[in-house]
Amino acid sequence: MPDSAENATRVALVTGAARGIGAAVAERLAADGCDVVINCHSESSVEAAKNLATKISDACYVKTSVMQCDVSDFDAAKEMIDKVKEEFGRIDILVNNAGITRDGLLMRMKEDQFDAVVDTNLGGAFNCLRHVAPIMIKQRSGRIISISSIVGIYGNAGQVNYAASKAGIIGMTKAAAKELGSRGITVNAVAPGFIETAMTAGLDEKANEALTSRISLGRLGKPEDIADAVSFLASDSASYITGQVLGVDGGMSL
Ligand code: NDP
Repeated sequence: MPDSAENATRVALVTGAARGIGAAVAERLAADGCDVVINCHSESSVEAAKNLATKISDACYVKTSVMQCDVSDFDAAKEMIDKVKEEFGRIDILVNNAGITRDGLLMRMKEDQFDAVVDTNLGGAFNCLRHVAPIMIKQRSGRIISISSIVGIYGNAGQVNYAASKAGIIGMTKAAAKELGSRGITVNAVAPGFIETAMTAGLDEKANEALTSRISLGRLGKPEDIADAVSFLASDSASYITGQVLGVDGGMSL
């Protein structure tokens, strides 16, 4: 496939896309007409990723591929991105979605709890950004969208590691937007509030109620709410938006 075909189908790589927000983003970008690469990490996610790929390509008539890779590994991320370029000919959209939590109060937090979260959430986003940038620079176009969190803006007790990683994504987004803007590449972040996924499934009813009472719109978010925001930032309508953080939190941060 050529590097810069005007009307080529857009190719999107979504990290951590076997479930939750990543899966909703992959589905939404396919509905927008993109070919989609679904990255997954653990062995147990491969089947879900493959099922999603089949569902998406059947429903949207787009090409899909599943690539298993630990995005926190610099060389493995390069290998995956080189493979996407080889298989699809181009990369138009990178969605840095892969993320983990290892919560604990600061006074009890272990070094490996901190490192694992920062290496995956921030390091993984850096690795993919770093390796996709030369491809997008050559194309003179691209959209990079990273999933941060309102926790990266406002903090949250018990999440020093997670907040640091998500705040880091915001700084990285702004710096990369400045570097890559002249090459026709936009770099933005989405900061979700409280979204119903496996990551937040552990909360009991009481905690859920307490959280919901802090949300102006009176409900938790759905993965599709985040997918809509990503779809917008990846669309032509957002071509003059870069270096921004789009809060999608139902008013939780007001
Ligand atoms: P899930 O736990 O449902 O999904 C996270 C995904 O990331 C999993 O598919 C997981 O795959 C993948 N992943 C984890 N580590 C790696 C890795 N090293 N390499 C590649 N993939 C990896 O979480 P959500 O869908 O809720 O979260 C998606 C993103 O949204 C995260 O960045 C999260 O921090 C952010 N977010 C979520 C909020 C929420 O309320 N849910 C709020 C704010 C932000 P596997 O299981 O195979 O490791």
